[in-house]
Amino acid sequence: RGINGVAESVAADEPIIPPVQIDHTQLLINGDFVDAASGKTFSTFDPRSGDLIANVAEADREDVNRAVSAARKAFDEGPWPRMTAYERSRILLRCADLLEKHNDEVAALETWDSGKPYEQAAKVEVPMVTRVFRYYAGWADKIHGLTVPADGPYHVQTLHEPIGVAGQIIPWNFPLLIYSWKVGPALACGNTVVLKTSEQTPLSALYVSKLFLEAGLPPGVLNVISGFGPTAGAALCSHMDVDKLAFTGSSSTGKIVLGLSAQSNLKPVTLELGGKSPFIVCKDADIDAAAEAAHSALFFNQGQCCVAGSRTFVHESIYDEFVEKAKELAAKRVVGDPFKIGVEQGPQIDSVQFEKILRYIRSGVESGATLETGGQRIGSKGYYMRPTVFSNVEDDMLIAKDEIFGPVQSILKFKDLEEVIRRANATPYGLAAGVFTQNIDYANSLTRALRVGTVWINCYDVFDATIPFGGYKMSGQGRVKGMNSLSNYLQVKAAVTPLNNPAWL
Ligand code: NAD
Repeated sequence: RGINGVAESVAADEPIIPPVQIDHTQLLINGDFVDAASGKTFSTFDPRSGDLIANVAEADREDVNRAVSAARKAFDEGPWPRMTAYERSRILLRCADLLEKHNDEVAALETWDSGKPYEQAAKVEVPMVTRVFRYYAGWADKIHGLTVPADGPYHVQTLHEPIGVAGQIIPWNFPLLIYSWKVGPALACGNTVVLKTSEQTPLSALYVSKLFLEAGLPPGVLNVISGFGPTAGAALCSHMDVDKLAFTGSSSTGKIVLGLSAQSNLKPVTLELGGKSPFIVCKDADIDAAAEAAHSALFFNQGQCCVAGSRTFVHESIYDEFVEKAKELAAKRVVGDPFKIGVEQGPQIDSVQFEKILRYIRSGVESGATLETGGQRIGSKGYYMRPTVFSNVEDDMLIAKDEIFGPVQSILKFKDLEEVIRRANATPYGLAAGVFTQNIDYANSLTRALRVGTVWINCYDVFDATIPFGGYKMSGQGRVKGMNSLSNYLQVKAAVTPLNNPAWL
């Protein structure tokens, strides 16, 4: 029983794949699913086995040109930016209703393409996507300017207008959730979109974009292309007719994206990048709750999270007890076929990531950290990895410095608050942090001192649509989610008229 004979860590039930058919593997351009101009395709693979799932149309520069020109026309001449905001809101709401109806098929596609547990996709992520669309539908008719009290005889008003054509590029770890963070606010504000999915996970975005068409989105408003970064991605970033870029991915690609904008038309860029987030457990913390939260802060989504709590700092007075608990939790984490009920951890996305994680594990051992549990692959097929915990990790070890993007927890020891603040901030990243304490003064001091975009206090990974999310330092620029995301997709125009009758000044 279980995958590849590794029975003890595998859930017992049979796979529960709900029926899902792959209907859309072409590019969505101007309301139609079409082949790439070159006729080329690439393959997307099942992380459970490395087997082929589907061949998908591969966009290149010419397809980017076609998609941008459809989006340009839809913006310059089409109904989308001109219809009432309430009408736009109703289309977003209709799409959310359709997505709710197709929740399980979409979740199955997401699991198949990315390896994440089906229960996580079906019960958490796809419902979150529905929520994001409803949230931004609610904003559509609440976006408006102000009248401004200028010092002079003028009537001054501001108009909040859509920016135009938004180019959006997303990664593979949360393909649909990040799609919704990009598409939701851009459409609510009246922009048109060309979105490039990750080459590892192209399927779910195509499915949901078809639901947008069914919901009444006019052709050309949302164009979705599959393809590779240096070709399709770079062409989108340097396109002169793209007015805005929003990128989520690694910090190194973020630098390239920013450079391509600078070399073309200086389109504004929002960046959501990598992290090496500290998870700080103070001496007074509820140790069981902290150990559980630190465990899921790291291992959620196979450790493939930008916000993974990948540096667990624990106060020296509770360090040994905490390490013991962390080790027990990791050892009993249920790894297996992500379509099985009860599975908490599926396979890593592909062999490249898998080998990279194994290299980091070797480096952890070689640099003298203590391997408490895990450290090996499970079976020989697919990319399954034993949940791994290192203790006695020092700040200068690679496992404490680099984004591993895998199920590897590093536990570090600290003595006092000043010291942990300094060490937590000693990284080029600044995405998120966890703080576990029952002392309000510790919580307040850490919240203010940590140079990160989100601090979760006695919780972690809370991602409601209302909460702004983004990074300090090399973790990004700008915010997604919440009302803050709207400003990424709006221009502010000031309109000034003389007030000729001083009585009305
Ligand atoms: P990646 O940077 O390799 O790829 C991201 C996207 O960029 C893909 O669609 C890829 O095709 C495209 N791309 C690659 N090269 C490009 C180029 N030269 N020009 C234009 N586009 C290009 O990242 P990944 O491996 O897909 O995702 C993992 C990374 O994403 C991690 O660093 C993770 O922390 C980060 N991430 C950040 C957030 C966040 O919100 N801050 C969320 C999820 C993931």
